[in-house]
Amino acid sequence: MKSDGRPATRRTAALAALPDDLDGLLVTRTENVRYLSGFTGSNGAVLLTREDAPVLCTDGRYVLQAAGEAPDLEVLEASRVAAALVERAAASGRRRLGFEAHHVSVELLRTLGPAADGRVELVPAGRPVERLRAVKDAAEVGALRRACAATDQAFEAVLITLSAGMTELDAEWALLSALRAAGADGPSFPSIVAFGPNAAIPHHQPSDRRLADGDLVKLDFGALVDGYHADMTRTVVIGSASGWQRELHAEVQTIQADLADAVAPGVVPAHLDAEMRSRITAAGHPVAHGLGHGVGLEIHEDPFLTDGSPAAPLEAGMVVTIEPGIYLAGRGGVRIEDSILVTADGHESLTTSPRELVEI
Ligand code: ZN
Ligand code: ZN
Repeated sequence: MKSDGRPATRRTAALAALPDDLDGLLVTRTENVRYLSGFTGSNGAVLLTREDAPVLCTDGRYVLQAAGEAPDLEVLEASRVAAALVERAAASGRRRLGFEAHHVSVELLRTLGPAADGRVELVPAGRPVERLRAVKDAAEVGALRRACAATDQAFEAVLITLSAGMTELDAEWALLSALRAAGADGPSFPSIVAFGPNAAIPHHQPSDRRLADGDLVKLDFGALVDGYHADMTRTVVIGSASGWQRELHAEVQTIQADLADAVAPGVVPAHLDAEMRSRITAAGHPVAHGLGHGVGLEIHEDPFLTDGSPAAPLEAGMVVTIEPGIYLAGRGGVRIEDSILVTADGHESLTTSPRELVEI
């Protein structure tokens, strides 16, 4: 586990990870600004340099909020936050500044050079803050733990509300209110509620399809707590499961259990994904998506557990989903997903709802 979660500790780590030839880092991505400052507003940027105290820039709507949430940073007020920080860096004699090329638009970049009369060179700096964010500190694990507990609680509550005749949209609404009742600030993403043949669509959007006896019900949802996103999927059956439903669920449950068990420090994400692909293919089914992703301040973040994942192994403190699914077009599908913490000697599933086939 890293620090206890103070933004100051994270800023020190971000600067330590910066290449020697950069004087500092311009951070514009909202989640990264929050991570490094504590500021939760929608318009902000942070300037981190080796020489000067860190600066948070935001516009007039958020100045008071920023002072409260980020008391250890100087708060600069400007509407064009990134340009104002580049000007500040130039005025302080900084010459080479890293920026988040994966986030800054071409249009914004065009305005940043002139902002400092060309005195500051802006250099793409990769994803240094995302790399730090992949390994959660104690405060972040605490928030994810609460988000996952609320997700489990909402699942238990929503199961008893499912009944033949209700629509997917009705069930989505029930899920939302169950999440709020369980202490969530909101849903961590638009919930996926899929009945019957719709369960064959991995990211189905809830519709007015009505629940019928014998339907598979796929629920993929999560609680948002203190900015942190839980993610869980369970697939249940209304009434008695048929033979193929039982078989399909058992196949996915075994793959999910085996791959969740394999989660540990040092394991290469792409290897886990490859194992999932070969197991699903061997069972005679097509592979619809990768094995999983990190969760944290974003619902999908580093590390990604897919075939194109970088070779970097899992580390203690990462929280990743393990979510294999098998989908039979026109009939239905099963996905089982947990949010799993990588621990020093293995893993701990933060979502713990029953994984065996529930018949309602
Ligand atoms: Zn999910
Ligand atoms: Zn997921």
